Amino acid sequence: MRYFDYAATTPPFEEVITTIAEVMRRHYGNPSSMHRFGEDADKLLKRSREVCAAALGVHPAEIVFTSGATESNNLAIKGAAIQYQARGKHIVTVSTEHPSVYEACKQLTDLGFEVTFLPVDAQGHVSTEQVCDAVRQDTILVSIMHVNNETGRVQPLHDIGAALKKQFPRVLFHVDGVQGYGKLPVDIRGWQADLYSLSAHKLRGPKGAGLLFVREGVKLFPLLSGGSQEQGLRAGTENVPLLVGMSKAVRLAGERQAETARRMTEWRDRVVAEVKTIPQLRLNSGEEAPHIVHFSYPGMKAEVLLHTLEQLGVAVSTRSACSSKLAEPSRVLLAMGRSELEASGGIRISFGDEHTEQDIDELILALRQAVAKLESLERWKH
Ligand code: PMP
Repeated sequence: MRYFDYAATTPPFEEVITTIAEVMRRHYGNPSSMHRFGEDADKLLKRSREVCAAALGVHPAEIVFTSGATESNNLAIKGAAIQYQARGKHIVTVSTEHPSVYEACKQLTDLGFEVTFLPVDAQGHVSTEQVCDAVRQDTILVSIMHVNNETGRVQPLHDIGAALKKQFPRVLFHVDGVQGYGKLPVDIRGWQADLYSLSAHKLRGPKGAGLLFVREGVKLFPLLSGGSQEQGLRAGTENVPLLVGMSKAVRLAGERQAETARRMTEWRDRVVAEVKTIPQLRLNSGEEAPHIVHFSYPGMKAEVLLHTLEQLGVAVSTRSACSSKLAEPSRVLLAMGRSELEASGGIRISFGDEHTEQDIDELILALRQAVAKLESLERWKH
Protein backbone atom coordinates (compact mmCIF):
# COMPACT_ATOMS: atom_id res chain seq x y z
CA MET A 1 0.00 0.00 0.00
CA ARG A 2 1.40 3.38 -0.99
CA TYR A 3 0.73 6.34 1.29
CA PHE A 4 -0.29 9.62 -0.35
CA ASP A 5 -1.69 11.47 2.65
CA TYR A 6 1.32 13.44 3.87
CA ALA A 7 -0.80 16.55 4.37
CA ALA A 8 -2.70 14.60 7.07
CA THR A 9 0.41 13.31 8.76
CA THR A 10 3.85 11.97 7.90
CA PRO A 11 6.00 9.02 8.96
CA PRO A 12 8.65 10.44 11.31
CA PHE A 13 12.27 10.54 10.14
CA GLU A 14 14.09 7.46 11.43
CA GLU A 15 16.55 9.64 13.34
CA VAL A 16 13.66 11.49 14.97
CA ILE A 17 12.32 8.18 16.29
CA THR A 18 15.77 7.19 17.56
CA THR A 19 16.25 10.58 19.22
CA ILE A 20 12.86 10.49 20.95
CA ALA A 21 13.52 7.00 22.31
CA GLU A 22 16.98 8.04 23.47
CA VAL A 23 15.70 11.13 25.27
CA MET A 24 12.92 9.11 26.94
CA ARG A 25 15.41 6.51 28.07
CA ARG A 26 18.31 8.67 29.20
CA HIS A 27 17.17 12.24 29.71
CA TYR A 28 13.97 11.85 31.67
CA GLY A 29 14.53 14.69 34.12
CA ASN A 30 12.01 17.48 34.56
CA PRO A 31 13.56 20.58 32.96
CA SER A 32 12.34 22.65 35.91
CA SER A 33 14.20 20.49 38.48
CA MET A 34 17.38 21.95 39.91
CA HIS A 35 19.51 18.81 40.05
CA ARG A 36 21.66 17.30 37.34
CA PHE A 37 18.76 15.36 35.76
CA GLY A 38 16.72 18.53 35.44
CA GLU A 39 19.62 20.55 34.10
CA ASP A 40 20.29 17.84 31.55
CA ALA A 41 16.68 17.95 30.25
CA ASP A 42 16.68 21.74 30.36
CA LYS A 43 19.81 21.86 28.23
CA LEU A 44 18.15 19.66 25.61
CA LEU A 45 15.07 21.85 25.61
CA LYS A 46 17.17 25.00 25.25
CA ARG A 47 19.08 23.48 22.36
CA SER A 48 15.83 22.41 20.67
CA ARG A 49 14.50 25.94 20.95
CA GLU A 50 17.68 27.31 19.39
CA VAL A 51 17.47 24.82 16.53
CA CYS A 52 13.83 25.69 15.78
CA ALA A 53 14.54 29.42 16.04
CA ALA A 54 17.53 29.17 13.69
CA ALA A 55 15.48 27.21 11.14
CA LEU A 56 12.78 29.90 11.24
CA GLY A 57 15.19 32.84 11.29
CA VAL A 58 13.88 34.15 14.61
CA HIS A 59 15.15 34.50 18.19
CA PRO A 60 14.94 31.50 20.59
CA ALA A 61 13.04 33.62 23.13
CA GLU A 62 10.31 34.03 20.50
CA ILE A 63 9.53 30.28 20.38
CA VAL A 64 6.80 28.82 22.59
CA PHE A 65 6.55 25.04 22.54
CA THR A 66 3.05 23.57 22.38
CA SER A 67 1.28 20.25 21.84
CA GLY A 68 0.70 20.95 18.13
CA ALA A 69 -0.72 23.52 15.79
CA THR A 70 -4.27 23.26 17.11
CA GLU A 71 -2.93 24.55 20.41
CA SER A 72 -0.63 27.08 18.72
CA ASN A 73 -3.52 28.51 16.70
CA ASN A 74 -5.81 28.65 19.73
CA LEU A 75 -3.11 30.33 21.82
CA ALA A 76 -2.37 32.84 19.08
CA ILE A 77 -6.00 33.76 18.45
CA LYS A 78 -7.64 33.52 21.84
CA GLY A 79 -4.49 34.64 23.65
CA ALA A 80 -4.25 37.78 21.48
CA ALA A 81 -7.99 38.44 21.58
CA ILE A 82 -8.19 38.31 25.37
CA GLN A 83 -4.92 40.21 25.86
CA TYR A 84 -5.76 43.08 23.52
CA GLN A 85 -9.55 43.32 23.95
CA ALA A 86 -9.26 46.80 25.45
CA ARG A 87 -8.01 47.97 22.01
CA GLY A 88 -10.95 46.41 20.21
CA LYS A 89 -12.87 43.18 19.69
CA HIS A 90 -12.68 42.62 15.94
CA ILE A 91 -10.74 39.88 14.15
CA VAL A 92 -10.24 39.31 10.43
CA THR A 93 -9.67 35.84 9.02
CA VAL A 94 -10.55 33.80 5.91
CA SER A 95 -13.45 31.43 5.25
CA THR A 96 -11.07 28.65 4.16
CA GLU A 97 -8.91 28.49 7.30
CA HIS A 98 -8.20 25.25 9.13
CA PRO A 99 -10.83 24.40 11.80
CA SER A 100 -8.36 25.23 14.59
CA VAL A 101 -8.40 28.86 13.39
CA TYR A 102 -11.95 28.99 12.04
CA GLU A 103 -13.61 27.43 15.09
CA ALA A 104 -11.39 29.34 17.56
CA CYS A 105 -12.57 32.57 15.92
CA LYS A 106 -16.19 31.40 15.92
CA GLN A 107 -15.94 30.55 19.60
CA LEU A 108 -14.73 34.08 20.33
CA THR A 109 -17.97 35.46 18.88
CA ASP A 110 -19.73 33.81 21.87
CA LEU A 111 -17.57 36.01 24.09
CA GLY A 112 -18.57 39.23 22.36
CA PHE A 113 -15.87 39.42 19.67
CA GLU A 114 -16.77 40.14 16.06
CA VAL A 115 -15.09 38.16 13.30
CA THR A 116 -14.96 38.92 9.58
CA PHE A 117 -14.54 35.70 7.59
CA LEU A 118 -13.26 36.94 4.23
CA PRO A 119 -14.53 35.17 1.10
CA VAL A 120 -12.04 33.75 -1.41
CA ASP A 121 -12.03 33.73 -5.20
CA ALA A 122 -12.53 30.60 -7.31
CA GLN A 123 -8.86 29.73 -6.81
CA GLY A 124 -9.12 30.02 -3.04
CA HIS A 125 -7.14 33.23 -2.75
CA VAL A 126 -7.80 36.27 -0.64
CA SER A 127 -6.46 39.63 -1.82
CA THR A 128 -4.44 42.23 0.06
CA GLU A 129 -7.18 44.80 -0.67
CA GLN A 130 -9.83 42.54 0.85
CA VAL A 131 -7.78 42.17 4.02
CA CYS A 132 -7.03 45.88 4.38
CA ASP A 133 -10.60 46.90 3.55
CA ALA A 134 -11.89 44.61 6.30
CA VAL A 135 -9.67 46.13 8.99
CA ARG A 136 -11.49 48.62 11.23
CA GLN A 137 -10.62 50.90 14.14
CA ASP A 138 -11.33 48.05 16.55
CA THR A 139 -9.46 45.29 14.69
CA ILE A 140 -6.81 43.62 16.83
CA LEU A 141 -5.80 40.56 14.80
CA VAL A 142 -5.62 39.26 11.24
CA SER A 143 -5.12 35.49 10.86
CA ILE A 144 -4.28 34.00 7.45
CA MET A 145 -2.85 30.59 6.62
CA HIS A 146 0.21 30.12 4.42
CA VAL A 147 -0.91 27.01 2.48
CA ASN A 148 -4.42 25.60 2.50
CA ASN A 149 -4.52 22.07 3.88
CA GLU A 150 -7.20 20.88 1.44
CA THR A 151 -6.31 22.55 -1.82
CA GLY A 152 -2.66 23.57 -1.44
CA ARG A 153 -3.54 27.14 -2.41
CA VAL A 154 -0.98 29.68 -1.21
CA GLN A 155 -1.93 33.09 0.17
CA PRO A 156 0.12 36.21 -0.76
CA LEU A 157 1.60 36.74 2.70
CA HIS A 158 4.37 39.17 1.71
CA ASP A 159 1.88 41.57 0.13
CA ILE A 160 -0.69 41.19 2.87
CA GLY A 161 1.86 41.65 5.67
CA ALA A 162 3.45 44.70 4.03
CA ALA A 163 0.15 46.47 3.35
CA LEU A 164 -1.31 45.56 6.72
CA LYS A 165 1.67 46.74 8.72
CA LYS A 166 2.03 49.92 6.67
CA GLN A 167 -1.59 50.95 7.17
CA PHE A 168 -2.34 49.35 10.53
CA PRO A 169 0.90 48.76 12.45
CA ARG A 170 -0.90 47.91 15.68
CA VAL A 171 -2.95 45.06 14.20
CA LEU A 172 -1.34 41.69 14.93
CA PHE A 173 -0.70 39.33 12.02
CA HIS A 174 -0.93 35.57 12.65
CA VAL A 175 0.07 32.95 10.08
CA ASP A 176 -0.89 29.28 10.31
CA GLY A 177 2.24 27.92 8.68
CA VAL A 178 1.56 24.19 9.11
CA GLN A 179 1.27 23.14 5.48
CA GLY A 180 3.96 25.43 4.11
CA TYR A 181 7.03 24.60 6.17
CA GLY A 182 9.49 22.28 4.43
CA LYS A 183 7.67 22.67 1.10
CA LEU A 184 7.88 26.41 0.42
CA PRO A 185 10.28 29.08 1.67
CA VAL A 186 9.19 30.54 5.00
CA ASP A 187 9.85 34.23 5.68
CA ILE A 188 8.40 35.16 9.05
CA ARG A 189 10.23 38.49 9.24
CA GLY A 190 9.55 39.31 5.58
CA TRP A 191 5.84 38.60 6.01
CA GLN A 192 5.97 40.84 9.10
CA ALA A 193 4.15 38.13 11.01
CA ASP A 194 3.75 38.59 14.76
CA LEU A 195 2.61 35.02 15.35
CA TYR A 196 3.34 31.84 13.37
CA SER A 197 2.12 28.28 14.09
CA LEU A 198 3.85 25.03 13.23
CA SER A 199 3.11 21.35 13.83
CA ALA A 200 5.80 18.66 14.05
CA HIS A 201 3.86 15.74 12.61
CA LYS A 202 3.36 17.38 9.21
CA LEU A 203 7.10 17.59 8.66
CA ARG A 204 8.17 14.10 9.69
CA GLY A 205 8.33 14.86 13.40
CA PRO A 206 6.16 13.35 16.14
CA LYS A 207 2.44 13.94 16.73
CA GLY A 208 1.57 16.05 19.76
CA ALA A 209 4.36 18.62 19.39
CA GLY A 210 4.27 22.07 17.85
CA LEU A 211 5.37 25.62 18.35
CA LEU A 212 4.14 29.16 18.22
CA PHE A 213 6.45 31.99 17.22
CA VAL A 214 5.51 35.06 19.27
CA ARG A 215 7.33 38.18 18.10
CA GLU A 216 9.28 39.96 20.81
CA GLY A 217 7.05 42.59 22.40
CA VAL A 218 3.77 40.77 21.61
CA LYS A 219 1.88 39.65 24.70
CA LEU A 220 -0.64 36.83 24.86
CA PHE A 221 -3.09 35.86 27.56
CA PRO A 222 -2.09 32.29 28.51
CA LEU A 223 -4.77 29.65 27.96
CA LEU A 224 -3.34 27.26 30.55
CA SER A 225 -2.66 28.33 34.12
CA GLY A 226 -0.06 26.60 36.22
CA GLY A 227 3.73 26.66 36.36
CA SER A 228 5.96 29.21 34.70
CA GLN A 229 7.11 27.01 31.81
CA GLU A 230 7.42 28.58 28.35
CA GLN A 231 7.78 32.08 29.80
CA GLY A 232 4.45 31.65 31.56
CA LEU A 233 2.62 31.30 28.25
CA ARG A 234 2.09 27.55 28.38
CA ALA A 235 2.05 25.94 31.80
CA GLY A 236 2.82 22.25 32.17
CA THR A 237 5.92 20.08 32.18
CA GLU A 238 7.47 20.24 28.73
CA ASN A 239 7.34 17.10 26.60
CA VAL A 240 11.11 17.04 26.24
CA PRO A 241 11.43 13.89 24.06
CA LEU A 242 8.87 15.05 21.49
CA LEU A 243 10.19 18.60 21.44
CA VAL A 244 13.76 17.42 20.86
CA GLY A 245 12.40 15.15 18.12
CA MET A 246 10.49 18.05 16.62
CA SER A 247 13.58 20.25 16.53
CA LYS A 248 15.41 17.55 14.56
CA ALA A 249 12.55 17.30 12.08
CA VAL A 250 12.27 21.08 11.74
CA ARG A 251 15.99 21.32 11.00
CA LEU A 252 16.00 18.45 8.48
CA ALA A 253 12.81 19.54 6.71
CA GLY A 254 14.10 23.11 6.54
CA GLU A 255 17.50 22.13 5.15
CA ARG A 256 15.87 19.95 2.49
CA GLN A 257 13.07 22.33 1.53
CA ALA A 258 14.41 23.44 -1.86
CA GLU A 259 15.23 19.90 -2.96
CA THR A 260 11.93 18.56 -1.59
CA ALA A 261 10.00 21.26 -3.44
CA ARG A 262 11.85 20.54 -6.69
CA ARG A 263 11.05 16.82 -6.59
CA MET A 264 7.46 17.21 -5.41
CA THR A 265 6.75 19.83 -8.05
CA GLU A 266 7.64 17.32 -10.77
CA TRP A 267 5.32 14.70 -9.26
CA ARG A 268 2.55 17.20 -8.72
CA ASP A 269 2.78 18.37 -12.32
CA ARG A 270 2.64 14.80 -13.59
CA VAL A 271 -0.45 14.01 -11.51
CA VAL A 272 -2.11 17.31 -12.43
CA ALA A 273 -1.49 16.60 -16.13
CA GLU A 274 -3.08 13.18 -15.67
CA VAL A 275 -6.12 14.55 -13.84
CA LYS A 276 -6.61 17.01 -16.70
CA THR A 277 -6.89 14.12 -19.16
CA ILE A 278 -9.73 12.49 -17.18
CA PRO A 279 -12.89 14.37 -18.15
CA GLN A 280 -14.82 13.30 -15.03
CA LEU A 281 -12.39 15.08 -12.71
CA ARG A 282 -12.18 18.78 -11.89
CA LEU A 283 -8.99 20.21 -10.39
CA ASN A 284 -9.27 22.33 -7.28
CA SER A 285 -5.55 22.73 -6.59
CA GLY A 286 -3.22 24.82 -8.67
CA GLU A 287 0.47 24.97 -9.38
CA GLU A 288 1.12 26.37 -5.93
CA ALA A 289 2.05 24.14 -2.97
CA PRO A 290 4.28 21.37 -4.34
CA HIS A 291 2.83 18.60 -2.17
CA ILE A 292 -0.94 18.78 -2.78
CA VAL A 293 -3.17 17.81 -5.71
CA HIS A 294 -6.87 18.16 -5.03
CA PHE A 295 -9.72 17.39 -7.41
CA SER A 296 -13.43 16.74 -7.38
CA TYR A 297 -15.29 13.91 -9.03
CA PRO A 298 -18.69 15.57 -9.20
CA GLY A 299 -21.51 13.14 -8.61
CA MET A 300 -19.25 10.50 -7.11
CA LYS A 301 -19.08 10.00 -3.36
CA ALA A 302 -15.50 10.81 -2.40
CA GLU A 303 -15.24 7.87 -0.03
CA VAL A 304 -16.17 5.46 -2.82
CA LEU A 305 -13.28 6.73 -4.93
CA LEU A 306 -11.03 6.67 -1.86
CA HIS A 307 -11.84 3.02 -1.14
CA THR A 308 -11.51 2.05 -4.79
CA LEU A 309 -8.06 3.62 -4.83
CA GLU A 310 -7.25 1.82 -1.60
CA GLN A 311 -8.16 -1.51 -3.18
CA LEU A 312 -5.76 -0.58 -5.96
CA GLY A 313 -3.01 0.02 -3.41
CA VAL A 314 -2.95 3.76 -2.82
CA ALA A 315 -4.09 5.65 0.28
CA VAL A 316 -5.39 9.18 -0.34
CA SER A 317 -7.75 11.48 1.53
CA THR A 318 -11.16 13.00 1.10
CA ARG A 319 -10.24 16.63 1.86
CA SER A 320 -8.44 17.08 5.21
CA ALA A 321 -8.11 14.47 7.93
CA CYS A 322 -9.57 16.85 10.53
CA SER A 323 -12.84 17.10 8.61
CA SER A 324 -12.94 13.86 6.64
CA LYS A 325 -15.39 12.19 8.99
CA LEU A 326 -17.87 15.04 8.65
CA ALA A 327 -20.85 14.32 6.45
CA GLU A 328 -21.21 17.83 5.04
CA PRO A 329 -19.56 19.09 1.85
CA SER A 330 -16.18 20.79 2.24
CA ARG A 331 -16.44 24.34 3.62
CA VAL A 332 -13.24 25.20 1.72
CA LEU A 333 -14.60 24.10 -1.67
CA LEU A 334 -17.97 25.76 -1.09
CA ALA A 335 -16.10 29.00 -0.27
CA MET A 336 -14.34 28.67 -3.65
CA GLY A 337 -17.75 28.62 -5.32
CA ARG A 338 -17.85 24.90 -6.04
CA SER A 339 -21.25 23.19 -6.18
CA GLU A 340 -22.45 20.93 -3.33
CA LEU A 341 -21.75 17.93 -5.57
CA GLU A 342 -18.20 19.07 -6.28
CA ALA A 343 -17.65 19.96 -2.63
CA SER A 344 -18.77 16.47 -1.56
CA GLY A 345 -16.61 14.63 -4.05
CA GLY A 346 -13.17 16.01 -3.22
CA ILE A 347 -10.04 13.90 -3.17
CA ARG A 348 -6.68 15.11 -1.87
CA ILE A 349 -3.41 13.49 -2.88
CA SER A 350 -0.38 14.67 -0.93
CA PHE A 351 3.25 13.77 -1.45
CA GLY A 352 6.14 13.17 0.91
CA ASP A 353 9.85 13.57 0.39
CA GLU A 354 10.31 9.80 0.46
CA HIS A 355 8.23 9.10 -2.64
CA THR A 356 9.86 7.80 -5.79
CA GLU A 357 9.03 8.07 -9.47
CA GLN A 358 7.72 4.53 -9.25
CA ASP A 359 5.25 5.50 -6.52
CA ILE A 360 3.93 8.22 -8.78
CA ASP A 361 3.62 5.78 -11.71
CA GLU A 362 1.56 3.47 -9.48
CA LEU A 363 -0.59 6.34 -8.29
CA ILE A 364 -1.37 7.48 -11.83
CA LEU A 365 -2.19 3.95 -12.92
CA ALA A 366 -4.48 3.44 -9.91
CA LEU A 367 -6.24 6.73 -10.63
CA ARG A 368 -6.96 5.75 -14.23
CA GLN A 369 -8.17 2.30 -13.21
CA ALA A 370 -10.34 3.61 -10.37
CA VAL A 371 -12.18 6.13 -12.55
CA ALA A 372 -12.67 3.55 -15.32
CA LYS A 373 -14.04 1.06 -12.79
CA LEU A 374 -16.40 3.54 -11.15
CA GLU A 375 -17.69 4.87 -14.46
CA SER A 376 -18.99 1.38 -15.15
CA LEU A 377 -20.77 1.28 -11.77
CA GLU A 378 -23.48 3.91 -12.05
CA ARG A 379 -24.97 2.83 -8.74
CA TRP A 380 -22.22 4.54 -6.74
CA LYS A 381 -23.17 7.93 -8.02
CA HIS A 382 -25.08 10.34 -5.81
N1 PMP B 1 -3.42 24.03 10.59
C1 PMP B 1 -3.34 23.36 9.43
C2 PMP B 1 -3.27 24.12 8.15
C3 PMP B 1 -3.30 21.96 9.43
O1 PMP B 1 -3.22 21.29 8.28
C4 PMP B 1 -3.36 21.27 10.69
C5 PMP B 1 -3.36 19.75 10.74
N2 PMP B 1 -4.43 19.18 10.04
C6 PMP B 1 -3.45 22.02 11.87
C7 PMP B 1 -3.47 23.40 11.78
C8 PMP B 1 -3.54 21.36 13.21
O2 PMP B 1 -2.32 20.78 13.57
P1 PMP B 1 -2.21 19.66 14.70
O3 PMP B 1 -2.61 18.37 14.06
O4 PMP B 1 -0.77 19.69 15.12
O5 PMP B 1 -3.10 20.07 15.81
